Amino acid sequence: MAQTSVAITIDTEKDLHTGTSFGITEGLPLFLEKARKYNIKLTFFVTAEILEEFPEYFRALDYEGHEIALHGLEHERFDILSYFEKEKRIKKAVEIYEKVLFKKPKGFRAPQHSADKELITILSKYKLAYDSSYTPFNVIQLLFFPKRFKLWTKHFFSSRKKYKITKSLYEIPTSSFLMPFVSLAFRVFPKPLIPVYFKVIRAFNREIIFYAHSWDFIKLGNSRIDKIFPHYLFIEKIIYLIEKLSKRQKFKFVRVEDLI
Ligand SMILES: [Zn+2]
Repeated sequence: MAQTSVAITIDTEKDLHTGTSFGITEGLPLFLEKARKYNIKLTFFVTAEILEEFPEYFRALDYEGHEIALHGLEHERFDILSYFEKEKRIKKAVEIYEKVLFKKPKGFRAPQHSADKELITILSKYKLAYDSSYTPFNVIQLLFFPKRFKLWTKHFFSSRKKYKITKSLYEIPTSSFLMPFVSLAFRVFPKPLIPVYFKVIRAFNREIIFYAHSWDFIKLGNSRIDKIFPHYLFIEKIIYLIEKLSKRQKFKFVRVEDLI
């Protein structure tokens, strides 16, 4: 029986609004403790500045079999930078990764999905194996971020399946169908709707790539979203889905690099 691959990915960066790192020091360890019960390996897209700040932490995750990939140097938006500036930042991020983890990075996700053609060229040049920045068929991006309409129209019509975006680089898009398969949807949808939402995502995506942020796992003092749709309910719902899927042979949890 062909199994459907499901990757749980976490963009690991400074906390939204405050710039603190409690998502990493407090939120993720709590979630990992729960996730370990299901023996799943996660993919962390980490900014190089965070790798440099917590080297032992990420070495331990790497040792445990989780994937550590890159999420920019300091969570910059790449589409507004010059080619020269983009390359400088990728080069530095790759150097930091190699210094911390003693190997080369395979995966990359641009902060705020800001991957454009130039960035893709640079990722190939620095021998990354895949990019996971695109969210095709994501209406939310087009509706709520009209300033970036041009870039995201390209993303909108890109393939929902894994494909070679250059000769040596795969694009492994995050899953989406009108709404991306992301923490915000888990916050907003009531628990009974989560399996329905998963079914829709599964029907329209071959590999299933979910993403959340490190700060989704903590109380965000200044966030209206966290007040209305609190993080602890998000955690409850994601664990609920993991538990459901882990009981079924049809699904297997993978790291994104396992899909190459
Ligand atoms: Zn991010």
